[in-house]
Amino acid sequence: MTDPTFVSDCMHKVLSGGSITFEEAERLLATSEVIELAECANTITRTLNGNTVDVEALINAKSGTCPEDCSFCAQSSFYDTGISKYPLLPTEVLIENAKKAKEAGATSFCLVCAYRDPPEKDFHQICEAITEIRSKVDIAVNVSLGFMTLARARILRELGVKRYNHNLEAAESFFAKICKTHEFADRINTAKIVKQAGLELCSGGIIGMGESNRERLELGFSLASLHPDEVPINILIGREGTPMGGFEPIDPIEAIKTIAVWRFIMPKTILKIAGGREVHLKDKERLALKAGANGIITGGYLTTGGNAPNQDIAMIKEIGLKA
Ligand code: SF4
Repeated sequence: MTDPTFVSDCMHKVLSGGSITFEEAERLLATSEVIELAECANTITRTLNGNTVDVEALINAKSGTCPEDCSFCAQSSFYDTGISKYPLLPTEVLIENAKKAKEAGATSFCLVCAYRDPPEKDFHQICEAITEIRSKVDIAVNVSLGFMTLARARILRELGVKRYNHNLEAAESFFAKICKTHEFADRINTAKIVKQAGLELCSGGIIGMGESNRERLELGFSLASLHPDEVPINILIGREGTPMGGFEPIDPIEAIKTIAVWRFIMPKTILKIAGGREVHLKDKERLALKAGANGIITGGYLTTGGNAPNQDIAMIKEIGLKA
């Protein structure tokens, strides 16, 4: 059992500009003082980041047939998951969806494409779509296009892309269990290229894939070492057809505790609760936004539905925060 003073001592350390150690993070994650942990994570969030919740809408702009074998992913060509697969959507469709996201109250719009890396023709078309959206819709444009070269990342930066998403997905020591077609180092490489090009970095991961608490913290510290602007926290939905189909869902309190401890590890980053939020957290979604998270994905995910944006924005207001 961890005494409540330990949790608040860690909070004061973080608020005064210090960092917690791996051992301290382990003690926090193991604590039975869940309310204290959540309240302290919330204090760190509000003190260092204010009362705003970052609300982002996604579009799956190119779905399925990815040549990688990430075992949690419904879009991998290795698995038959019954998802709708389609090539890159036409620019007009992307513009239309960006307008809808803006009208629904989203502050950013992310074009997500299932590639290892985009073929030249698709990359060109994506660049055109970014230019069109930026000229017609007043919304920040983010992208997630798989592995990047520095030259391409610089082009995206020049086009006004705000943030590039490339998740680490899992701890380095766990990564080989979830993917054989590329390595953890490949993902780190793209994350570093994104920063080098001057783009903001969005990089997060998935919890509930069978990793240990230590591995969950290892991922948190690896993410922190990249100094990302945003960290999406996905909670696995074991998709039928993937090797993780039928996985037991994570205990919602464990998910909330992980979010809270990641807040201690990354005090000033946008911690965005993402895929799996509605399925696993249910009535605890509000608690997550009072326990360290300060961002949400709204309106659904890549291959699963989600809350309607107006429902999410009402929820944010109800708990006294601003979208
Ligand atoms: S690289 Fe991305 S889209 Fe492709 S299988 Fe892995 S997670 Fe899915």
